[in-house]
Amino acid sequence: MKFNDNLIDMEKEDIFEKVSEKVKVFQSNNKDVKIISLGVGDVSKPIIKPIINAMHQAVDDLSSEESFRGYGAYFGYDFLKEAIIKSEYEGLLSQDEIYVSAGSKTDTTSILELFDINSKILITDIMYPVYRDGAKALNRNVRVMPIASKDKFIASPPEEHFDIVYLCSPNNPIGIAYTKNDLTKWINYAKEHKAIILYDNVYSEFIRSQDVPKTIYEIEGAKEVAIEFRSFSKHASFTGVRCSYYAIPKEIDENINLLWQKRTINRFNGADYIAQRGAAESLASDTKKMLKANIDGYLANAKLLKSTFKEAGFTVWGGEDSPFLWIKTKDQSSWEVFDYFLKELNIIIIPGVIFGPGGEGYFRISALAKTENISEAINRINQSNSL
Ligand code: PLP
Repeated sequence: MKFNDNLIDMEKEDIFEKVSEKVKVFQSNNKDVKIISLGVGDVSKPIIKPIINAMHQAVDDLSSEESFRGYGAYFGYDFLKEAIIKSEYEGLLSQDEIYVSAGSKTDTTSILELFDINSKILITDIMYPVYRDGAKALNRNVRVMPIASKDKFIASPPEEHFDIVYLCSPNNPIGIAYTKNDLTKWINYAKEHKAIILYDNVYSEFIRSQDVPKTIYEIEGAKEVAIEFRSFSKHASFTGVRCSYYAIPKEIDENINLLWQKRTINRFNGADYIAQRGAAESLASDTKKMLKANIDGYLANAKLLKSTFKEAGFTVWGGEDSPFLWIKTKDQSSWEVFDYFLKELNIIIIPGVIFGPGGEGYFRISALAKTENISEAINRINQSNSL
């Protein structure tokens, strides 16, 4: 017996674990200090009432013989797929191109099972690290490509051939989003190279800029080359409930859905019925309006944080189509600035180096925290004379 070498080599750099370890030590030595987290990517708003009611109803459904649901919909229930098409992809996709699942974290890695094990995979450095580590755990061949501040951290297609490209927009951790123009270049690259774009669009509900498409399929040719991932986690507060979906358009290949269905029937017994009822409710038009107000609240926090950091003399990216801000340190390393914020201001931020070597010298903050905590963090930053 031999273990998977890639798991042995992988750094146990569970970042959030390292961050929380440092916070725990600091808090135990400074018991009276109130620490505010601008670090976590988790949401702070609870699930809204109409969605809770739909999930309560779903629990009741399970209690009677007539409405009980057990095993069944490997790719998601029709009621949810229908709601997804109507709300998100009307005129663009059909139900048999949608797969409902239990979280995009798993989906963005497990999709690699669809492709040859020797496929050349491209990931940007700075990245959502799950792409790199998830691919490595499956023994895949991954290359990282630096992205630079002079390009506003937008990756451009390389000369070299790749089979699979991960793109994340709105981006975690940088908080910027790819415009139609930016994405068109990648779609042309993918067509030319017969490559696939894995388009992580889990922050789609935060998009406000006119030139950023809500879905990549708004762009001509995207249906031939892109698989798009979406999640209910951040806008419907489903980080604990778990429900997501992704689209595999038939235009990519006439056999692609058959292949993926064969794989999925063997690897997945379908997403939770209760979660799917809640997810379907989140797509109803009145509920969508309430959720939009929640997202507007997060974005208002992002705007306040952005101006605060700018006034304190930092260079800041993101926060307009995303809850994340990406900030350049003032000549400190990522971990030095983390320590500084924790010890001097009692604020948790995330060191940029966690998102790949290119993130050294930067840090990420999140506007998903409670508004009162964000206000207090802003006061502390404004009052600090050592920043
Ligand atoms: N993709 C990105 C870029 C994310 O930031 C996250 C979560 O933070 C995910 C995927 C995973 O989301 P989910 O909760 O649907 O697993």
